Amino acid sequence: MQLGQYWRFLTPTALPFTLEQGRTMLVDRLTGAPPRPFQARQFVHEHATPGDPADVLRTLDRFSLEVRFLMSVGPEKGPLMSEMVGKLPEGARVLECGAYCGYSAVMIADRLPAGGRLVSVEVDPIAAEVARSIVDLAGYSDRVEVILGGSTETIPKLAGPFDLVFLDHWKELYTTDLQTLEKHALLRPGSVVVADNVGEIFGAEKYLDYVRTCGRYESEHRPATIEYTQIPDAVEISVYRGGN
Ligand code: CA
Repeated sequence: MQLGQYWRFLTPTALPFTLEQGRTMLVDRLTGAPPRPFQARQFVHEHATPGDPADVLRTLDRFSLEVRFLMSVGPEKGPLMSEMVGKLPEGARVLECGAYCGYSAVMIADRLPAGGRLVSVEVDPIAAEVARSIVDLAGYSDRVEVILGGSTETIPKLAGPFDLVFLDHWKELYTTDLQTLEKHALLRPGSVVVADNVGEIFGAEKYLDYVRTCGRYESEHRPATIEYTQIPDAVEISVYRGGN
């Protein structure tokens, strides 16, 4: 989302959330609190049972609801992801753009079929460090690789194809990153591309227009809410048909 689009979060439905985010960011700044992902890591390491992925996710949910909001995929949209991962063939390869604190990485890893692998690309070094730590705590370091780097530079270096791609990073990169995946033959016919946060509030019209009109995808819109809130959001699920 570009800076000019933050006005979208000033609607009556979103305003209490926006003000609360402003308040907690100010409190953290004034008290010299560590970055939010570090706070989450400490909380999860203190409260979750190592090697228990479900408990790690529950503890991240608890942190998000009781301490500080985390932009994880969350308990509403998460099961949708899990269901799709569960249908993938043996040895499936999954790509995630935007690891953040590792919530979705743990959720995806938990449902990967035998021999499946997840590559998660994260541009923020703090988030990448936390994601690795949380994936490790859940016991999934063997099947998840967190790569520190920008998606635009990293995607062309990856080996594909990917059976499922989860776009959950900067919304203005969704379209160009998807086009890079196409250009570098990192999708196969039948690959599923799941784009989070494509509700009106995020201004993802360009991406939605692309997957719906370029002729290479069968695309479906699933209404949802922003994790841990009642603010309307949506997920777009697009199945790659192949072609030029
Ligand atoms: Ca998201």
